[in-house]
Amino acid sequence: MAYINGEWLETTDQENVYNPATGEVIGSVSIVGANETKEAIQAASESFKTWRKLPGATRGAYMAKAVEIMRSRADELANTITKENGKPLADAKGEVTSGINYLEWYAEEAKRVYGDVVPASHEDKHLMVLRQPVGVAAAITPWNFPFSMITRKIAPALAAGCTVVLKPAPATPLSAINVFECFHEAGVPAGVVNLVIGDAEAIGKEMTSSTDVSKLTFTGSTAVGKMLMRDSAATMKRMSMELGGHAPFIIFEDADLEAAANGVLMSKFRNAGQTCISTNRVYVQQSVASEFGDLLARKVSELTVGDGTKEGVDVGPLINDGAVQKVNEHVQDACSKGGKVLSGGNIIESDGNFFEPTVIQGATDTMRIATEETFGPVAPIFSFETTEEVIERANNSRYGLAGYCFTNDLSRAYEVMNELEYGIVGINDPTPITVQAPFGGIKESGTGKEGGKYGLDDYLIEKFVSIKTN
Ligand code: ADP
Repeated sequence: MAYINGEWLETTDQENVYNPATGEVIGSVSIVGANETKEAIQAASESFKTWRKLPGATRGAYMAKAVEIMRSRADELANTITKENGKPLADAKGEVTSGINYLEWYAEEAKRVYGDVVPASHEDKHLMVLRQPVGVAAAITPWNFPFSMITRKIAPALAAGCTVVLKPAPATPLSAINVFECFHEAGVPAGVVNLVIGDAEAIGKEMTSSTDVSKLTFTGSTAVGKMLMRDSAATMKRMSMELGGHAPFIIFEDADLEAAANGVLMSKFRNAGQTCISTNRVYVQQSVASEFGDLLARKVSELTVGDGTKEGVDVGPLINDGAVQKVNEHVQDACSKGGKVLSGGNIIESDGNFFEPTVIQGATDTMRIATEETFGPVAPIFSFETTEEVIERANNSRYGLAGYCFTNDLSRAYEVMNELEYGIVGINDPTPITVQAPFGGIKESGTGKEGGKYGLDDYLIEKFVSIKTN
């Protein structure tokens, strides 16, 4: 399936979409490849000529119309997310709200793309910096937030004056189709937003090699991100990369342990641990490690696992069987190296891809879970003695996306805030994400930001102009 130059395109090549909670086929979409991607890039390139020249307010008005349509379809959009991704309906509704918020925010920001007038060093020179759209943006999105990851990329692109070709994840194409239906209904001009669903490698190759694509924005695994970056080097594209993470969650003995345990619950078990800012390592100060472990295990054992469409479900399925097997391997490895399961620990036998929400006490740095991204509902508890030690261990990762710290000691909070090598830090806050703030990592977690004025910068170039008069 594709949406190119304002028209829907079907092909005979079909791929099924599955519900990860039941294994049932919930739909099928036709898939496209290199040729359609070329066409989509061509359409985006043509429409860029006019879209970039529209006043920001006009671009913003198209986006605001799409917001209105999405709000009127919010329940249906959330249902699609739950069916193809598995997350509980309440979380899917939250994702729809968040995704729409990005579009709304950037619809407003489209009016506020300012340049600069720079003081000159000569009487006859006049210096200015124009901020202009970078060009056609190619976007590749993952399945863990199948709706909001799309609007997070398209919103700043359109506000800046860019046009877009987007490839969603094969597991969750239905949410992507929903988004593009809304843009179509909003009357966004043909070619401004284009969708290509299909062969990742073929589509990716067209996107990275095309000289008509000026920018690549990707959210997904670090391995694929690195490959796309390498492939884009030949055409020197601007890059935004939101890649993997391995978040530390540090809990000091002075923290409110109840709040910290609720924080881990939010950060580790929302979306069944399948978010890039999910906690991967819970570091608890030695004196409270045992008490905290018991508290967390009790809360985790009360979580309801099941089909996200059912009332009262807290944790849905993992995306596929491969994900379940990986989580299981991490748990087995931890147990074989001395970890003690306080809650959960097993695959749930069913037609869906479920794993019990799990807490492991006595985690050590040699376990796989200490360095590899689990992307599942397992909280390993490590213990530490001093601030210096925990900061060093927390930073000992090639990832640098999100880090968390719970403490009521202001000096500790400042020290951790300054020293953590992560792009996002939550102090007593397990959900440090909001539309007006920059989301993005450092190290091998990527480059570039989504959100706020920073997100707009990723789609703009600075053109310096010097005018000489006499
Ligand atoms: P995950 O393991 O979480 O699925 P991936 O990085 O494989 O993460 O997937 C994120 C997105 O990247 C998806 O849309 C996927 O189809 C896409 N993708 C995977 N491999 C490639 C590739 N070789 N070229 C372009 N896109 C790719």
